[in-house]
Amino acid sequence: MSVPASNAGWQKRSLAAVWHPCTQMQRAFTVPPLPIARGEGPWLIDQEGQRYFDATSSWWVNLFGHADAGINDAIKRQLDTLPHVMLAGCTHAPAVELAERLSALTGGVLGHAFYASDGASAVEIALKMSFHFWRNQGRADKREFVCLKHSYHGETLGALSVTDVAIFRDTYDPLLMRAHLAASPDARQAGPNETAADVATRAAADMRRLLSERHEHIAAVIVEPLIQCAAGMAMHDPSYLQALRQLCDEFGVHLIADEIAVGCGRTGTFFACEQAGIWPDFVCLSKGITAGYLPLSLVLTRDAVFEAFLDEDIARGFLHSHSYTGNALACTAALAVLDRFEQEGVLAANRERSQLLAEALAPLRGDPRIAHFRQQGTIFAFDVLEAYAPGRFAENFHLAGRERGLLIRPIGRTVYLMPPYVLDAPLAAWLGARVIETLDAVCARSTTESHADRAPDPTVA
Ligand SMILES: *Cc1c(COP(=O)(O)O)cnc(C)c1O
Repeated sequence: MSVPASNAGWQKRSLAAVWHPCTQMQRAFTVPPLPIARGEGPWLIDQEGQRYFDATSSWWVNLFGHADAGINDAIKRQLDTLPHVMLAGCTHAPAVELAERLSALTGGVLGHAFYASDGASAVEIALKMSFHFWRNQGRADKREFVCLKHSYHGETLGALSVTDVAIFRDTYDPLLMRAHLAASPDARQAGPNETAADVATRAAADMRRLLSERHEHIAAVIVEPLIQCAAGMAMHDPSYLQALRQLCDEFGVHLIADEIAVGCGRTGTFFACEQAGIWPDFVCLSKGITAGYLPLSLVLTRDAVFEAFLDEDIARGFLHSHSYTGNALACTAALAVLDRFEQEGVLAANRERSQLLAEALAPLRGDPRIAHFRQQGTIFAFDVLEAYAPGRFAENFHLAGRERGLLIRPIGRTVYLMPPYVLDAPLAAWLGARVIETLDAVCARSTTESHADRAPDPTVA
């Protein structure tokens, strides 16, 4: 088949052959996907040469820009050496070094790494491992899990069972395990005279009630530390994580930190948990760990958990496996990411980058059209008030952004930025200005839109 040199040509072929994720495909015929031809730093370039700033890091995965020479070189060298070998019965240097270096980043507290490919698989592994740990201890009755309101942990059946986002979950509810829902510490719930820490204290009290009642049956609590991203960048006070750690210790329950979105420096520290000064029993990592180049996920856990599976009986071992577990190319990309953090002072540079973006977005503070302007590390978000957010707000904002060279996807009425770690002063100023312009354009439109257009918003994440 000949290759059409236009966006329209690729859009037509894509809609005829590709079933796109997180998309009502009927709507995609009206709002077709953007055909990207190339990536260059933070820019994505379509088939017709238009450039778009990747303001959400391609679903939160990209760290240092697209087609980065350093990451590319590392992958190319590994490609010519060993692309992949199974990790059962074999091992290889990138998998070993990555496990060692990640463990070192936890001060050796989480001494073992178990590999998989996608974030949801890492969540499945953490849930199964926690249950199996208790079973090996003669506590097979500990088989329940606790997640937070508005949590998101992925969309395979186990991960969806600990997810509380209606649009992803409700249809499949009949297929899911029953998890306990505990209050979210989302700081937006603070009353007039309350702080984020007060909300955290209240949410921790709710968790205490639940654990004191059910701890004999509960294997683990799973949490997204500091930011519930898919809930709409709901941020909370680090004291909540300290309270959780203490409660889990008190009641003999595992703490699983899903750092799939918030890990790798997004919140200002390499692991979000560092800001609370705690270590969980399991950390799930994926997304940014390969800089957004290759699928890789992993679960870090304590040596005491690892040792509870050692036995002559094969069934007491953790037999979970995926074909591409510990893929050598993906592990190599992850090692290149860790090199960058070590050698280039990424976290310190990000503090400056975020400061620049905060200045560029300063006009939005106190803007009457928005509420809850918030920031944690490299992530910025605000909620557009309903009166200013017409039907299909997220889609309208996305399309208005595209017209201005901005690739951005609000979650409902929450507009957020999770840019790759590349901002300098001119780029931060440009980005801030385009976001404000896009908001002005979309909100201006709201007054002229008719009620017939107020259909439910199909763009959810
Ligand atoms: C994206 C995400 C997942 C799922 O990862 P996939 O690679 O999409 O399966 C799980 N938890 C959190 C917090 C995420 O943001």
